[in-house]
Amino acid sequence: MTAKPGTNPSALSAQARSANGPQEILLAEPRGFCAGVDRAIEIVERALTKFGAPIYVRHEIVHNTYVVNELKAKGAIFIEELADVPPGATLIFSAHGVSKAVQHEAVQRGFQIFDATCPLVTKVHVEVAKLHKEGYEFIMIGHKGHPEVEGTMGQLASGIHLVEDVADVARITPGQTRKLAVVTQTTLSVDDAAEISAAVKARFPQVREPKQQDICYATQNRQDAVKVMSPQVDVLIVVGSPTSSNSNRLRELAAKLGTEAYMVDDASELQESWFEGKLKVGLTAGASAPELLVNQVIDRIKALGAVSVRKMPGIEETVKFPLPKGLKLDAQGQQLEMGDSQLHQAL
Ligand code: SF4
Repeated sequence: MTAKPGTNPSALSAQARSANGPQEILLAEPRGFCAGVDRAIEIVERALTKFGAPIYVRHEIVHNTYVVNELKAKGAIFIEELADVPPGATLIFSAHGVSKAVQHEAVQRGFQIFDATCPLVTKVHVEVAKLHKEGYEFIMIGHKGHPEVEGTMGQLASGIHLVEDVADVARITPGQTRKLAVVTQTTLSVDDAAEISAAVKARFPQVREPKQQDICYATQNRQDAVKVMSPQVDVLIVVGSPTSSNSNRLRELAAKLGTEAYMVDDASELQESWFEGKLKVGLTAGASAPELLVNQVIDRIKALGAVSVRKMPGIEETVKFPLPKGLKLDAQGQQLEMGDSQLHQAL
């Protein structure tokens, strides 16, 4: 369930502060920003500092309403069509990546370009290009219309077949089956992707699977944390925007495990009725949701009666991705040029 727009935030009345309301909040670990989101936001902020407003960004830099609005306020302009960007402007590609056609068009139009594509998405693009040269066709597991899927499928003019579920596997018609490889969107449900992969393998036993699965560490870790937490709570709240794939998967996962779960863009969408008779509240956040919003949700739930906040044990994430050339600063705040070697170390 996602909170409906227009929900009255003042609905969290003192009435609910009773023994019948929440007593404890369990915080999932890890939650919130991943290294790819951190990097993408920093690219926009540094471009604004270095070149001044406006900075154009193709698509939402990451799928979070708060983040996008904050950057808009600082001078970022979010567009979908490159025709809406004036000649000579600075353009940033979002963390989800872009197709070859968009890359070429941006170069042709002469923009100064910075690429905020998450390096883990770029890794999938590189793999597609490499195997395509070896004669492979691809089966992509992902959600139709998601910008990451459009970007990855758009690495080739043809020969990538999208499957969204097990039923789709029976429908696709590759040109040949001798050289077939699987790639996946990075932010899928780990369990759903495994089920679809198994169906692909059953139909095409010789299919080449990724050495390391394409679902990223951040998606995997956040889902693992929800799996551990769900049986321990009476209701689970996910902070994330409706467009955020990995946030949606967290709410779905908790629901599949039998835990009542809701996703909210921010604290104003919380509804008092969700907490009636619920003593333990689980709280997590998608990879694009800032911790500030998590803290505001905590304050709202405390207003309903929760007296303690307990962090669940979990994996500590230390992944960090370097910035693109031209936006890196040294300790004195000077611009540094950076080679690709650091990036390769991170992959
Ligand atoms: S969710 Fe994963 S793929 Fe997406 S930006 Fe974060 S690390 Fe990269």
